[in-house]
Amino acid sequence: MSLSQSIDFDLDLINRYNTAGPRYTSYPTAVQFHEGFGAERYAEIARETNASGRPLSLYFHIPFCDTVCFYCACNKVVTKDRTKAKPYLDRLYKEMAMQGALFDKNRPVTQLHWGGGTPTFISHDEMTELMGKTAEHFGLLDDDTGEYSIEIDPREVDDSTLGLLRKLGFNRISLGVQDFDEKVQKSVNRVQSESLVLGVLEEARSLGFRSTSVDLIYGLPHQDRKTFGDTIEKIIKVDPARISVFNYAHLPDRFKPQRRIEEEALPSPGEKLAMLQQTIQQLTEAGYVYIGMDHFAKPDDELAVAQRDHTLYRNFQGYSTHSNCDLVGLGSTSVGVVGNSYSQNHHDLEKYFQCIDDGKLAVFRGVELDADDVLRRDVITRLICHFELAFEDVEKVHGIKFTDYFARELKELKPMEDDGLLKVSGNTITVQPAGRLLIRNICMTFDRYLREATEQRFSRVI
Ligand code: SF4
Repeated sequence: MSLSQSIDFDLDLINRYNTAGPRYTSYPTAVQFHEGFGAERYAEIARETNASGRPLSLYFHIPFCDTVCFYCACNKVVTKDRTKAKPYLDRLYKEMAMQGALFDKNRPVTQLHWGGGTPTFISHDEMTELMGKTAEHFGLLDDDTGEYSIEIDPREVDDSTLGLLRKLGFNRISLGVQDFDEKVQKSVNRVQSESLVLGVLEEARSLGFRSTSVDLIYGLPHQDRKTFGDTIEKIIKVDPARISVFNYAHLPDRFKPQRRIEEEALPSPGEKLAMLQQTIQQLTEAGYVYIGMDHFAKPDDELAVAQRDHTLYRNFQGYSTHSNCDLVGLGSTSVGVVGNSYSQNHHDLEKYFQCIDDGKLAVFRGVELDADDVLRRDVITRLICHFELAFEDVEKVHGIKFTDYFARELKELKPMEDDGLLKVSGNTITVQPAGRLLIRNICMTFDRYLREATEQRFSRVI
């Protein structure tokens, strides 16, 4: 393992730097999206990107779930009524026709993702139709070289689902597992047996899915080091290429389903940190490398290879190996990253339907990046993906003198350097093993909007 992929768990530092901050799946973050940016400007920018010939990445949001998980913070519609999918998919096809007309058909779709909600909520016929319609409007690859992935709820899979998905062109799955402990599962209303989950993973492998990814959550009711440690051990045995371990944030005022979580049964902050520390130890001992934020991967997985080669990228779906794409968001809530802009569709299904029925794109807000945003996004992406940044590389792309442009930021990094989180030597910033879990704090130094918000707060107080 290279130095840049090793990780130190320093409890004292973690406690000291434990502040809330963005996860930087975008920069500027969604807080900066505004309704002054709408469908017309989005369409202009989309057409302009055709000159680049860049590949496309497509994201489809399927918002339905059969039952609610109490920890959920996603945008979804909980219903047992499967007929609800059809009117939604009809709008999605119309949106696809409008979006598809903006982009040259010869731009290859190197990345495609179905997320939710629960993408496997829709029927097999609907899955086939959705992929078929996509091929009518976009240049899908048919040689299995793309990164085509889907989020799987193991409870929504029957004997033929995975085979069908593979046939439709998917070659990666991510599986929501969370925890195998029955008491924990019951307390969050997501009961799925271990044999079901392990069966799905094994079947995916035998069908030739290239990468299997498992999502776990720590910080749920009734969890402790013992229960969570057992879950990790069982997952390690089935050997998925990627494992994500998310921290449950209990915010019942913001997310209604979380009000049904038994607060007294939540682990203490100290126990949560102990679970995290134990998880890191278990996974690294089993040969996984820490990619960053909540993600671990096998050393030969594309993500780990891309991190070593400095080609790793981060977007709304997490880490990715496809940096040079325009991301087209389809469906309610979806976010697009096209040219130097972010754009988002209506969350509300009624509003989304109304726009599409009126023959308009459903983009209701977004932001265009200026040169400073593009530069800072590049700096944050390099740090969060590679834990290393050579001033020269940034200077070449953006035509600035790094030490002049970021003089203030470099000064602000000094206390973190003294704490051993990073090293600034010569013309390079290198995040140290103790700083890798705190990468958000390092990135926050380069976030102009956070600084402006802090300055405004202070001036108000004074
Ligand atoms: S966690 Fe996923 S499956 Fe559960 S309610 Fe939320 S979106 Fe649906």
